[in-house]
Amino acid sequence: MRAVICGAGVIGASIAYFLTRRGVKPIIVERTGIACAASGKSGGFLARHWCDGTPSQQLARHSFDLHAQLAGDSREDWGYRRVTTYGGSGSARTQTRHTSQNPIGWVSAQIDVGQQLGSTEDTAQVHPALFTTAMMRAAQSQGAELRIGTVTGVKQAAGRVSGVEVDGALIEADAVIIAMGPWSILAAAWLRLPAVYGLKGHSLVFETGAAIPPEALFLEFHEAGGAVQSPEFFPRPDGTIYVCAISSDNPLPIHPAAVTPDPGAIERLERICAAVSPALASADIVARQACFRPIARDGLPLIGRVPGVTGAYIATGHSVWGILNAPATGEAMAELILDRATRRVDLAPFDPGRLKPLDPARLRFGAA
Ligand SMILES: Cc1cc2nc3c(=O)[nH]c(=O)nc-3n(C[C@H](O)[C@H](O)[C@H](O)COP(=O)(O)OP(=O)(O)OC[C@H]3O[C@@H](n4cnc5c(N)ncnc54)[C@H](O)[C@@H]3O)c2cc1C
Repeated sequence: MRAVICGAGVIGASIAYFLTRRGVKPIIVERTGIACAASGKSGGFLARHWCDGTPSQQLARHSFDLHAQLAGDSREDWGYRRVTTYGGSGSARTQTRHTSQNPIGWVSAQIDVGQQLGSTEDTAQVHPALFTTAMMRAAQSQGAELRIGTVTGVKQAAGRVSGVEVDGALIEADAVIIAMGPWSILAAAWLRLPAVYGLKGHSLVFETGAAIPPEALFLEFHEAGGAVQSPEFFPRPDGTIYVCAISSDNPLPIHPAAVTPDPGAIERLERICAAVSPALASADIVARQACFRPIARDGLPLIGRVPGVTGAYIATGHSVWGILNAPATGEAMAELILDRATRRVDLAPFDPGRLKPLDPARLRFGAA
């Protein structure tokens, strides 16, 4: 089988990994670089039960377990570890010192960490760029080929895919998988696909030096101007802390390398971090960045066959859970492509055919 995967984010890399485990040697076409977008700039937080009661429950639970298996089976280290997860609140305005002892030692006294949201039984983390790169490296060691280039079209003949157009040249294929994150919306011009949107988020990575305990923190934080933010803090085993917050609906640029933070967003996030933790107020910042979560109209991923064209598939729209759900998505896609059915995860809730296809005339992008 000649399979071409479009996009080398965590979803494309995981599909490549599971296809190569089944003996297929896919070509992965990536415009900019492995994990250059959300897959390299996300938190990498994993929770086994936080999708319970939604159509993603089975996908998330199985994927959480697969993360543990993959980390256990590999000699590579991508920062996988179990974490204890807390929730709390704080404000830039109040200088109230909480009398009760915070369970977390690295936050300031004005932060009230009142709730434990998860334990080492059911919450964990990875370094997402390292995880994505490791999946891709493992696939490449089994014959997958990474090509840097821009996918510009999907070709079909007699109701079947025949190949992918990359910078105007054709790569022949029997199976084509669209995994371009929010840029999967481009594929609506080539195939009958629903819209995929991009929701922008900002993040910082602090170099704190000393190892920080494996404690993830989700806060409700009131900024001085009155706005309420929901910053998330993920200390990593490499002596850094990743923090994200401040979403915006600024448009997706057509080139992944053109994504930059909104004016003022990074400064706001730096102020929040300085108020939350003295360890962050004095730490060097090693990354100031923004990225886009891919989201379908109903908030559920699009994973499955593209209606009407044999051999065309899509896997995107994972929103805030793309790192968590990548292994189960990769495994399910490999099963769907090779066995025509999935074993562990029912993909019916994620069928791309459930949503109306986008009219290509409505495609819109931001500058660059
Ligand atoms: C701030 C933030 C924090 C997050 N935190 C978490 C978290 O803690 N846990 C979690 O599970 N998820 C988290 N997520 C969500 C997760 O990061 C995403 O769901 C996931 O990374 C999406 O992966 P992807 O492979 O679908 O897309 P992407 O990572 O966007 O990859 C798409 C790839 O396609 C390439 N591409 C684009 N156009 C073309 C083209 N024409 N030709 C070839 N290649 C192309 C791009 O260059 C890119 O490499 C977070 C997201 C954000 C924004």
